[in-house]
Amino acid sequence: MPDPAPTLTAALALAADGYPVFLLGRSKRPVANCPQCPKAELDPHHDPETCDHLTCHGFYAATRDPQRITAMHTAVPGGLLAIRTGRVCNLAVIDIDPRNGGDIDRDLMPPTRAVRTGSDGWHLYYRHPGGTLGAKLRGCPGVDIKADGGYVVAPPSIHPGTRRPYRWLSDRAVIEMPPPLVSACRPTEAPTAASPNTTAIPLDRGGGISSPAALLAAHLAAVTSAPEGRRRNTLYGAARGVARMVAAGAITPADAHTALYQAGRAAGQTDRDTRAAIDGGFRAEAIPTEGIAA
Ligand SMILES: [Zn+2]
Ligand SMILES: [Zn+2]
Repeated sequence: MPDPAPTLTAALALAADGYPVFLLGRSKRPVANCPQCPKAELDPHHDPETCDHLTCHGFYAATRDPQRITAMHTAVPGGLLAIRTGRVCNLAVIDIDPRNGGDIDRDLMPPTRAVRTGSDGWHLYYRHPGGTLGAKLRGCPGVDIKADGGYVVAPPSIHPGTRRPYRWLSDRAVIEMPPPLVSACRPTEAPTAASPNTTAIPLDRGGGISSPAALLAAHLAAVTSAPEGRRRNTLYGAARGVARMVAAGAITPADAHTALYQAGRAAGQTDRDTRAAIDGGFRAEAIPTEGIAA
């Protein structure tokens, strides 16, 4: 007998395996926030990580709770199943897109749990090695890394463009990355505001924030673009968001502090206000700031 709700069945199975799942819209883009949820990065008091709305804030809606998953399946009919990646579930996915020249490098990428995507690419599932990962695999054109602040579409979703399904290639266990692959995943430079490149990273790639650098850039851009009079509050909100990245191991406390401090000063805040907003934001997320100099 065919499964009457294959997406729901797959979602519940992934959740039981420890993966937080959510549903994208039919178009493969995140579902729009409800009217009550402002753009998270613009409201320092609205935390997407703790917002309890069922489908708001893209991958932040991901859950392992069977009841929420079932409700989400009802709320987003025909939605594409997606897994939130990153240290949150010890998962980093090597995303190979042949349309951009990507291919499996069998020396670098040992066999692991894998998906054939609906666009003839591959998703190779590895355990997150910890620390900061870049958005792209160094030396491998057409190969992205989906980890902290990212997600991947999962079977049995149908690619909206090709109408072909995502499917599991094997039921192998998710293995550790070998050291050469870990090295290739490391960013070439640390994502701090000290690097002028940070704010040039595209914030919206296919509707989701897909790398720690981009997530950091989004927080910092919110500070520098906030209207006068709201900048201090915005900096506080950004500090909380970046502090959560520290908690996730995506950035060091010192780099986080430096990036926020520079963003605050660039937004015309005084030294004193800037430090107070950062300290307050870090404290609210239980990240110690002692011993960190801006
Ligand atoms: Zn909402
Ligand atoms: Zn919300």
